[in-house]
Amino acid sequence: MAVRRAVVVGGGLGGLAAAVGLRRIGWDVVVLERAAGFGEVGAGVGVMPNALRALSVLGVADEVRRVGTPRVAARVLDPRGRALVRVAGAGRVVAVHRADLHGVLRAALPASCLVNSVDVSSVESLDGDLVVVADGVRSRLREALFPGVTGPVYGGVTAWRSVTEARFPADLAISQTVGDGVEFGVLPLGDGRVCWYAATEAPEGVVSSDELGVVRGLVGRWHAPIPSVLDSTGVVLRHDIYELGAPLPSYVSGRAVLLGDAAHAMTPYLGQGACMAFEDAVVLAAACDRFPSVEQALAAYDRVRRPRTQAVARASRVAGRMGFRLRNPLAVAARDLALRAMPSWAVVKGAERFTAWRPPVESLDR
Ligand SMILES: Cc1cc2nc3c(=O)[nH]c(=O)nc-3n(C[C@H](O)[C@H](O)[C@H](O)COP(=O)(O)OP(=O)(O)OC[C@H]3O[C@@H](n4cnc5c(N)ncnc54)[C@H](O)[C@@H]3O)c2cc1C
Repeated sequence: MAVRRAVVVGGGLGGLAAAVGLRRIGWDVVVLERAAGFGEVGAGVGVMPNALRALSVLGVADEVRRVGTPRVAARVLDPRGRALVRVAGAGRVVAVHRADLHGVLRAALPASCLVNSVDVSSVESLDGDLVVVADGVRSRLREALFPGVTGPVYGGVTAWRSVTEARFPADLAISQTVGDGVEFGVLPLGDGRVCWYAATEAPEGVVSSDELGVVRGLVGRWHAPIPSVLDSTGVVLRHDIYELGAPLPSYVSGRAVLLGDAAHAMTPYLGQGACMAFEDAVVLAAACDRFPSVEQALAAYDRVRRPRTQAVARASRVAGRMGFRLRNPLAVAARDLALRAMPSWAVVKGAERFTAWRPPVESLDR
């Protein structure tokens, strides 16, 4: 059979993962990226066990473990540093710098298939048996393929992210601290640097000339090492959180298939956005390998991926609403009490609801 060709629109984590998967099944792939260079922002990402299994099928899990920091999953704390939840045994999370994760995927692709400075505005303008639409939350192609479907909406929360310059002790745990209306997360990297994020409710579009000062005002008096993490932080990124306003009726239109945030941009409260894109990539490549026609493969992908990713998006929204977004002191006290009372097995079971995912194949290699 003639070699089949896919055009991937968007060179973020999702698009690159899709390209790696499709190349492993022998397809010819080109990735078109709007930006002048390929890269990722200076922040961390928690690669959950489900995503690690997907990355393993893509042949890059060992490399991700090497550049990241495998840690036994996390603790949830209150602002004084008291444990609300200890999650042990729910599998390993790998804390990794986004640029390093992106670099691992890029290294799995020949440079010749990565093309920069191409702003794609229509599927029709592209050659190929398959077009993978991985152009992110503000996907222009999604708008064109599904006119009238609600696009991204502001989730009511703004988030700050950064990576410290200083090195912290190697045994620092992954942690998430929840206060009333504010959350702070710590993802330690293997070299001692710490990726962190903070989130709180805020009106859309607000910016400050001193973002770090704003974060200090929110969590600067919280437990160690939060104050020293902030003291050793340079540049801070701030992003308002957007998610799709309504679930899409399909992830497929003709020979085009949506993947990653273009298909299911979700709030980050379960840390599953990029993880879902890695799952998408594996399921897509496995379906293209298994079915004789692209049409059948895309129908199978849509059948499997839409329910799963839309369920995770819903759960993520609820996790925010019932978690750090609570402000009423009584509700906060009830939440903390309920978290403390939760037996360890229940916590593990809750986490596994999403992280127990298994890929449809063990390998894509031919
Ligand atoms: C604060 C925050 C914290 C998060 N934390 C986590 C976490 O811990 N774990 C996790 O799994 N996920 C997390 N996420 C979610 C995760 O970042 C996203 O789900 C993931 O990056 C989506 O990848 P993507 O490739 O689909 O989209 P993107 O990363 O947005 O990539 C889209 C790419 O397409 C390009 N592009 C856009 N338009 C065009 C065009 N017209 N033509 C060509 N190229 C185009 C863009 O330049 C970009 O490179 C977080 C998100 C936020 C905001």
